[in-house]
Amino acid sequence: MLEKRQPILVGQAVKRVLDRVTLLTTETIPLEESYGRILRQNIVATHFVPPFDRSPYDGFAIRSEDTKGASGNHRVLFKLVDHIGAGTVSAKVLGRHEAVRIMTGAPLPEGADAVVMFEQTVEDDDTFTIRKPFDRYENVSLQGEDVKEGEPVLETGTFINPGTVALLATFGHATVKVAKLPSVGILVTGSELIDVSEPLAPGKIRNSNGPMIAAQLKRMGVPYHMYRFTVDDLERNKQEVRQALDEHDVLITTGGVSVGDFDFMPAIYKELEAEVLFNKVAMRPGSVTTVAYAKGKLLFGLSGNPSACFTGFELFVRPALRKMQGARMLYLPHTKAVLGEDFSKANPFTRFIRASYNGHTVTPAGFNKSNAVAAIARGNALIVLPGGSRGYAEGMEVDVLILGQEDGVAEWTL
Ligand code: AMP
Ligand code: MG
Repeated sequence: MLEKRQPILVGQAVKRVLDRVTLLTTETIPLEESYGRILRQNIVATHFVPPFDRSPYDGFAIRSEDTKGASGNHRVLFKLVDHIGAGTVSAKVLGRHEAVRIMTGAPLPEGADAVVMFEQTVEDDDTFTIRKPFDRYENVSLQGEDVKEGEPVLETGTFINPGTVALLATFGHATVKVAKLPSVGILVTGSELIDVSEPLAPGKIRNSNGPMIAAQLKRMGVPYHMYRFTVDDLERNKQEVRQALDEHDVLITTGGVSVGDFDFMPAIYKELEAEVLFNKVAMRPGSVTTVAYAKGKLLFGLSGNPSACFTGFELFVRPALRKMQGARMLYLPHTKAVLGEDFSKANPFTRFIRASYNGHTVTPAGFNKSNAVAAIARGNALIVLPGGSRGYAEGMEVDVLILGQEDGVAEWTL
């Protein structure tokens, strides 16, 4: 007898998955390898940035008090007493109307409190004149103007982006404590599948989900093992799932989660005594998306339909993999945009439409059923149309999830 599946809301489904996540331990890695990882230590500034008052320009360091009364009719003269580039400290202490020729990044000499840019002077051999008064600290990059000593600068759970790397380098972190990466197994099922390199044959299609999921993981910087795609065979699939689950922290399968005669994943979950967190989500595409929990690990049973498979990964797998690493920003960035064309289909369930977003308008990326492949390639966003509505007209404001961003947001806002 066919069991009746109870759909749950997408947000509830995401929460059920995240509630089962186990935090991975940490490891210490070289800074140069840390891009894309999740920081697992708090970083406090151990010194001011910049560490000393310095020149932001190429010019002359002077004492501002010496510039009083300077004007076009009354140019004030300075005499050069030293010449320094970045990385060098002048031994001179500036006296009245003395100046040091100074390059960008060099520390201000003692006594100096302003910098005159070359363009603001008329130069002679070892003198120059200026035609305007300077304020104290004019054209000076002040010690600590960027970061104060003792200030918390990075929090554990931060996604390490290129700027994070720069900040870690600034404070001398040659190595960084980060979350270990989860190991993910991918098992693609379906007797109709042939390999990418094979010619089409009657009734067969090429396995596009396997390479797609691999690319989605790669985009997250998460390593994976791709098992050889497999036919629909209960005994065989059972063994394959068991082995993959033994070998990895997380298992992603595609296909076989529906109610067809050859959809064996539900039977396999039962056999493994897995706890099925849900097997129906109130969403299109991907309502059959199933997530189960066995041996302390998550099994993501994604639909075989490419658009559903893709969406299931972005909505459920992605935040789980980030949470395992202790990340604070788990969810796809969310914005509002203007719908670029009518979308008249009724929506009993929340609909996720692969779409292209230009920063203002969002437009469905063509044929958009759950079995669509081309729209995934054209899309850089998902339009989210809440369930229970009767279609949307061009010009209406809609919710959009942005794809392909390295980091996410902290709240599930849909
Ligand atoms: P299933 O989820 O197994 O019922 O498959 C749903 C649809 O997705 C069927 O039309 C399958 O042929 C197709 N499909 C399943 N697996 C893949 C795959 N790896 N790549 C492309 N299409 C697939
Ligand atoms: Mg199938």
